[in-house]
Amino acid sequence: SGICACSRKRNICSSPSRLQNMSAWVIDQFGSNGVLRFTEEISLPVINVSSEVMIKVNAASLNPLDVAMRGGYGATLLNLRRDPSSVLSSSNEFPLILGRDVSGTVVDCGSGVTHFVPGDEVWAAIPPWKQGSLAEYVKLTEYEVSHKPKSLSHAEAASIPYVASTALSALVNAGGLCRESCADKRVLITGASGGVGTFSIQLLKAWGAHVTVTCSQNAEGLVRGLGADEVVDYTAEDAPQQLELMPKFDVILDNVGGDTEQWAMGLLKPWSGAKYVTLVSPLLLNTDSMGLVDGTFQAGCALHNKAFENMLSRGVFYRWAFYAPDGPALDDISTLVDGGKILPVVEAQFPFSQVPQAFQKLEHGHARGKTVVKVS
Ligand code: NDP
Repeated sequence: SGICACSRKRNICSSPSRLQNMSAWVIDQFGSNGVLRFTEEISLPVINVSSEVMIKVNAASLNPLDVAMRGGYGATLLNLRRDPSSVLSSSNEFPLILGRDVSGTVVDCGSGVTHFVPGDEVWAAIPPWKQGSLAEYVKLTEYEVSHKPKSLSHAEAASIPYVASTALSALVNAGGLCRESCADKRVLITGASGGVGTFSIQLLKAWGAHVTVTCSQNAEGLVRGLGADEVVDYTAEDAPQQLELMPKFDVILDNVGGDTEQWAMGLLKPWSGAKYVTLVSPLLLNTDSMGLVDGTFQAGCALHNKAFENMLSRGVFYRWAFYAPDGPALDDISTLVDGGKILPVVEAQFPFSQVPQAFQKLEHGHARGKTVVKVS
């Protein structure tokens, strides 16, 4: 690799620097599962910035975003982030490696890396504008990486970083919650049986909040086992009425979108700083269909109008939340995991040879936690 500082930091160096290529699942065009291609001839990532860390991937996991990105979702905005000059040129993102979670071992570090040395076991959530973890090696910046919880296997650890980073961004940055402020807070999580939901329940319970969730009836045992105080089966005809009979909420985390906000907004405490935080926003879809400028403008107007209307009529905040990379925040999650406060929820595990089957599982929907891919 370009800069290999690891030999100065340790006697051993497991850097893959003599190798040229690695194996990976890539896509060369957007489409359905048929576009996934296994290859052993993808160039190894090269450390060319001093803050970069190279990780040998042990396990990855899939998120709904991987299925969406396979089909081209978000391409306009993500390409701009990858390469700002793509606005002017016809450069493209292929071959593109999907996979947003990694648990593995550091094999090489840039000269400015201070928190990691080769041999460290780490986990990370990989930003969607970077090459993903369905590969032997992945390169990240130090800030995005964290030491993996010691109590978890790599497969278990890979189930957590992306949903954890998303949940933290939604609950803390958009929802205004934190460990110190949660004791008297009532939170409603919709779509609680999936990856973000099963993590969020546990985080909020660890912080002392009262947690109500919506999910299918057959997920009740799972979410109660993770600590949910009240569970409402959203398929029941009287689900909205059941929720209306409950005391009002301080924060709603919406993992479902669609018409949820129409019936759920009124469940928030009025005029008391309550927040509706949705993870399902039209921003990337808009930029894909209308282009960068129009799409961003339309999404901005929609957000502004909804936020204004809800503040004026109900006295509640309306916010969109997005995944944000944050290695130091994952350090805190690592502590909660090693303290037994947060458990991994791995629903299915696939070998590296069966990545298309793992995508099929995700496309089927009805997730109960996470789908993991064991890479090495
Ligand atoms: P999952 O697919 O893991 O989970 C979704 C869950 O919702 C499933 O368990 C599903 O089970 C349940 N569900 C579906 N419909 C409803 C409903 N009407 N009411 C209650 N539960 C329902 O997704 P994630 O947890 O990973 O992500 C949640 C959402 O957040 C997704 O839409 C995802 O795209 C989005 N997201 C956005 C991010 C961002 O940066 N903005 C980042 C990460 C995720 P069942 O159908 O059996 O009920």
